[in-house]
Amino acid sequence: KKTQRLDKILGHLGYGSRAEIKKLVKQGRVTRNGTVVKDSGAQCDPYGDVIELDGERIVYREFVYLMLHKPPGVISATEDLRQKTVLDLLPDEFRAFDPFPVGRLDKDTEGLLLLTNDGQLAHDLLSPRKHVPKTYEAIVDGHVGDNEAQRFKQGVELDDGYVTLPAELDILERNTLADGTLTSRIRLTISEGKFHQVKRMFEAVGSKVNYLKRISMGPLALDESLPMGAFRELTVAELAALK
Ligand code: URA
Repeated sequence: KKTQRLDKILGHLGYGSRAEIKKLVKQGRVTRNGTVVKDSGAQCDPYGDVIELDGERIVYREFVYLMLHKPPGVISATEDLRQKTVLDLLPDEFRAFDPFPVGRLDKDTEGLLLLTNDGQLAHDLLSPRKHVPKTYEAIVDGHVGDNEAQRFKQGVELDDGYVTLPAELDILERNTLADGTLTSRIRLTISEGKFHQVKRMFEAVGSKVNYLKRISMGPLALDESLPMGAFRELTVAELAALK
């Protein structure tokens, strides 16, 4: 069985810094299999030992999987000196796991963002060979229709010469604003993730994305009951579907 230092186990779960944990262990608040442990460097089996803090059992786990409803205005990076990042939306107990976003959404894009510290899962979902579909809803300039849908199905050439894989465009609504401006609300599913891909695909057909929201990634769909800026852990079923 694999053992780890007690302070490492508690630190991973967000119980504080090494010094803070040392202090609470010294105070006799932590037990292992019913016996008080006063050495925060004691080797414990995080899964096999019963570890309690103030009489409450601590449930150990290595990974977290979070669904975030990303709001516009925050960046999908883990740290930034000046701008707010998606990690700033998480409380310390989840930040302690060192999660990172699986893929990127632009600063002005909202919607589904998966955060995890499971590097293997992230790698699998992002692998270009796996073609994990991602679906977006967008509001774009002009009245797009069958012509654009056909072009996206065949692949369009982006500004750098790259030709996109087949993508599915569905038109949800076409509007004419009071000032005569034409817009379309659409749904687009792409199976790759080039930089600014959705925006550049619409540029390639002479339109422009004015609003962009990701609603799904592979089998994972944004929980529409999650308010913007809020997150929750994936359910067991959601995680099983992703793996
Ligand atoms: N495509 C874009 O252009 N932006 C995003 O944030 C995601 C996909």
